[in-house]
Amino acid sequence: MFLDLIQQSEICTLLAETAQKMGLETYLVGGFVRDQLLKRPSKDIDVVCVGSGIALAEQVAETIAQRKGYKPQVAFFKNFGTASLVFGDWQVEFVGARKESYSRESRNPIVENGTLEDDQKRRDFTINALAISLNKHNLGALLDPFEGVQDLKRKIIRTPLEPDITFSDDPLRMMRAVRFASQLGFDIEADTFEAIKRNKERISIISQERITDELNKIIRSNPPSYGFKLLFYAELLHIIFPEMVALQGTEMKEGKGHKDNFFHTLQVLDNVAEVSQDLWLRWAAILHDIAKPATKRFSEKVGWTFHGHEEKGAKMTPQIFRKFRLPMGEEMRFVQKLVRLHLRPIALVKETITDSALRRLLFDAGDDIDSLMKLCKADITSKNYAKVQKHLQNFAKVEQKLIDIEERDQLRNFQPVITGELIMEVFGLSPSKEVGIIKTAVREAILDNILNNELEPAYAYMLAEAKKLGLEPLQK
Ligand code: ATP
Ligand code: MG
Repeated sequence: MFLDLIQQSEICTLLAETAQKMGLETYLVGGFVRDQLLKRPSKDIDVVCVGSGIALAEQVAETIAQRKGYKPQVAFFKNFGTASLVFGDWQVEFVGARKESYSRESRNPIVENGTLEDDQKRRDFTINALAISLNKHNLGALLDPFEGVQDLKRKIIRTPLEPDITFSDDPLRMMRAVRFASQLGFDIEADTFEAIKRNKERISIISQERITDELNKIIRSNPPSYGFKLLFYAELLHIIFPEMVALQGTEMKEGKGHKDNFFHTLQVLDNVAEVSQDLWLRWAAILHDIAKPATKRFSEKVGWTFHGHEEKGAKMTPQIFRKFRLPMGEEMRFVQKLVRLHLRPIALVKETITDSALRRLLFDAGDDIDSLMKLCKADITSKNYAKVQKHLQNFAKVEQKLIDIEERDQLRNFQPVITGELIMEVFGLSPSKEVGIIKTAVREAILDNILNNELEPAYAYMLAEAKKLGLEPLQK
């Protein structure tokens, strides 16, 4: 069946020949086989043999050395009996077939050597338990004990064993089920989904890093909302991301309601995903309204308000990043900035826009203005198509004005000519409140277009502002 694949692929041929020379029963397995059947590009190959995966890897490296004149490095983990090597674009993982049994009391399985069937059983889903033989007597045969091919056709995620066993043995598989469903656009089969609901609490024994890895894969899939809905209805989201679940629901009071901010957030996330692959822009979409529950108020006059949710959301961003073990450097700062500024461009649609308001936005957003505009456009959601179109048109005008001003003034990387150092030098000051006051006054005047960002007028302005504080330059 897969004879052609093996004969036409250099790496597969190498693997088959080496295994046969060693007399070792060996198979291609897991994600690689699944992706072959789905015709999805993949650069990872998983190999399982009935024996030592490490010994096979070393022998494969030897074969490559003989044929190619260089020997790839074999990385191995003795404790797990796994090894890997890189060949061209390929990352090849080797493992010996294993049989696992878990006891309720311990998180760590008892691992013994096993047959191919034993190994296929301990895999997470039927579509990931397919194997292709590299052995002489049935080279290229597909071994599919759990009807994985049928599930691929039916687009179904299903566990090979009783799902309660599969999930309780390794609860990360619940996240993986949702992740594969979201990446491949598959359904999770009903019994499997019910088992996730029953076992959801067990996710707490999994490390945050591994959970976040899967969550990021869900966020990267298209459309990402699908994975989030599965997490929500399985109630896994309630455990791993309660802040997001708190967005769900509407409330009516005196005939006034508000939109469901959870489903709105998912719509914004999908909108952003349509125009960008950037994981961090997607995170900004997820977090843009995260502080709405915390800032929600009702007044008779205006109904529901969420005043300050952007500022409060920006404060929550580092806390959430820390909890998810996401990078706290520029990625976090980018997301935080977008959360903080996400209402600014849309506010410019309503008022009669002044240049100084536009300039201020360009200055505050800096190089992230394009991402901010993407988020802001994605944030225009309504069931009323005409309304969305009208908003988008108005928004396009704001965008054009921003482009014009940027071309003229180049504020993106704007640096005022009057720096703190200069102020300290001229007035003989050490770092102090006064330095900040003068610096801010000059910057604001430039942003308001009262003066140009050139040394001479800005210097004069600085002197005048300092005088108000009773400061004179050291020498005239
Ligand atoms: P991708 O590489 O696209 O994430 P994959 O299916 O290759 O998808 P990997 O995490 O690379 O996923 O794992 C390779 C194979 O190992 C899987 O196809 C599956 O058979 C098995 N596997 C991985 N993790 C688990 C797990 N937690 N439980 C059971 N089997 C697993
Ligand atoms: Mg893989």
